[in-house]
Amino acid sequence: MQTEVKNKTGMTNNIAELAQEFELKPGQVFGVLDEFGIEHDGSTFEADPDTLELVRDALTEHLGSKEIVLRPNPTPRDIAAALGVSQSDVQKALLTKLKVMATLTTSLKADVAEKLAQLFDSTVRWADAPKPKMGPTAAVNGAARKSGAQPRPPVVTIMGHVDHGKTSLLDYIRKTNVASREHGGITQHIGAYQVELPEGKITFLDTPGHAAFTNMRARGAQVTDIAILVVAADDGVMPQTIEAIQHIQSAEVPMIVAVNKIDKAGANPERVLTQLPEYNVIPEAFGGQVITAPVSAVTGEGVPHLLEMVLLQAEVMDLRADAKAKLEGVVIEAKLEKGRGPVATVLIQNGTLRIGDSIVAGQTYGKIKAMTDYRGEKLTEAGPSTPAEILGLSEVPQAGDRIEIQSDERSAREVAQSRVDDERARTIVVKARGITLRDYRNLIQEEGLKELPLIIKADVQGSVEAVKGMLEKVRNDEVETKIMSSGVGSITESDVLLASASNAIVVGFNVKPEPGAKHEAERHKVEIRTYTIIYELIEDIEAAAKGMLEPKFEEQYLGTAEVRQRLQFSKKGVIAGCYITDGKVTRNAMVRVSRGKEVIHEGRVATLRHFKDDVREVTLGMECGVTFEGWEEFAQGDTFEAYEMVQVNA
Ligand code: GDP
Repeated sequence: MQTEVKNKTGMTNNIAELAQEFELKPGQVFGVLDEFGIEHDGSTFEADPDTLELVRDALTEHLGSKEIVLRPNPTPRDIAAALGVSQSDVQKALLTKLKVMATLTTSLKADVAEKLAQLFDSTVRWADAPKPKMGPTAAVNGAARKSGAQPRPPVVTIMGHVDHGKTSLLDYIRKTNVASREHGGITQHIGAYQVELPEGKITFLDTPGHAAFTNMRARGAQVTDIAILVVAADDGVMPQTIEAIQHIQSAEVPMIVAVNKIDKAGANPERVLTQLPEYNVIPEAFGGQVITAPVSAVTGEGVPHLLEMVLLQAEVMDLRADAKAKLEGVVIEAKLEKGRGPVATVLIQNGTLRIGDSIVAGQTYGKIKAMTDYRGEKLTEAGPSTPAEILGLSEVPQAGDRIEIQSDERSAREVAQSRVDDERARTIVVKARGITLRDYRNLIQEEGLKELPLIIKADVQGSVEAVKGMLEKVRNDEVETKIMSSGVGSITESDVLLASASNAIVVGFNVKPEPGAKHEAERHKVEIRTYTIIYELIEDIEAAAKGMLEPKFEEQYLGTAEVRQRLQFSKKGVIAGCYITDGKVTRNAMVRVSRGKEVIHEGRVATLRHFKDDVREVTLGMECGVTFEGWEEFAQGDTFEAYEMVQVNA
């Protein structure tokens, strides 16, 4: 095997020599060549003297410090893995040395990641950086990568248990920080507003309530950058606090805990801090990464500090948007108002929305007639992180609907209409589209899925613990379960929304879904599986984890039809002119054709027509033209039964 470096002047340089010079193994020399994008064929490479010099530089740098390869926006968890050090060491270095507050899953700015790596005697190479022809890589500057993008205000949601002071806190912040100008005091107009501090702006979504947060996420709209968890100092962690924590953690949104009501006589903020670690929220005071801020929404004590923390967190996240980019926005809330028509509060995430723009929002469309800000003042345009109320939509959109600009109102209408049609087609044709245990089987096998997210509800705390304990142990080489949340009580709408947002399955033991939850599960195609025997539950989940949960199908009768005519068409083949004598026949139905008492064919409907139109179904008393897949030996007087196969354990 040749391992030599040849150059154009005829000088040769042996890889083995380089290896010796730098006290590396030949394989390591090749590794460094790879890292710097210097071509070789695994055994030799050709190089001119300049390149050889750069190879030497590269090797020198390689020896100088350890290099780690990171993708853009790495999290502390990624960095710990790349450095081969513990996550807690990385967090400690972040907090104590760099004064940066971040959860394990917070995306870090490039310069923070690089400083962090330096603390561990390492340098960073960015994975997506264009490979230099030769020579060491300059770190890619995050800002340059997103050219045109400017820092934008963070979008913040406040969550927590009822009566812990979410509304009061929002009110206080609004009153003290929203410039009232000529208005005598502020009355809030829309469900989102912006506050302006000397250090920057913050956009608050005024939709306290976990359903709103998760509902949007379930619809693919992650609008919140930072969540403030409000916990009353006199009350401590309560059920909805836990629920909020689970929602925030599942969304992987950085959390800041506001310990509220510190002015009250019975307030015990310390106790709140000691309660949080149980839910994997480790306050800074205990060496963790979660910032906590004692506040009073009544006296205002601590609120400025809380807002500072929000801005600090936003800075770490390096939130950016480009006012000139293509518009991206989302509906925060919408309603029908007398005399004004559909009114929607939207949040612009990227680009700029202007009066007169033709937009599509989910399945509705329109031309923006008027736009106002949170103070009720007229806007002609709204840029990134700006909440605005818009008028001019044809119908009321849903919270979480994305907004897109179209060239004119007509195309906007067409896009909206095609979405309405698609939705209709989906609900008719597709029975279950969401993730089911059976889907997991496929995902595990085909896409190498590693986690099976579950939400557990049970009748009493004892069963919750038992089910949780057993399910946590379900794992094999390929996959393990991930309990997203667990709790006592029936399956609620909020459980379903969390499941939908995190592609989880809801498992109930000795509990049933509430009617609202059932409805939401159907809407979001979330699978709810309920059990009364614990071993059946465990067995199913084990089978799913093994990718072995076999689907069970049952035949479901649809209807019966009689063949009245054989219609021969040259192009289309033979059509059975039929009459529906019971129920209905659908286009994708399975059929069992009988002549007298004998079944003469089993198969599928290929086409279904009513007069000249292709139709999805025909019902009792209607005539239709049917062709069967790969079979046309029917005769007048034959009858057939239509049915479909429905999965019963999905
Ligand atoms: P929400 O349900 O979380 O929105 O809670 P609210 O903001 O409606 O507050 C519930 C109650 O707690 C109200 O009576 C508030 O006046 C009171 N409250 C809220 N924050 C504070 C606070 O910091 N100190 C005191 N003493 N009371 C507060």
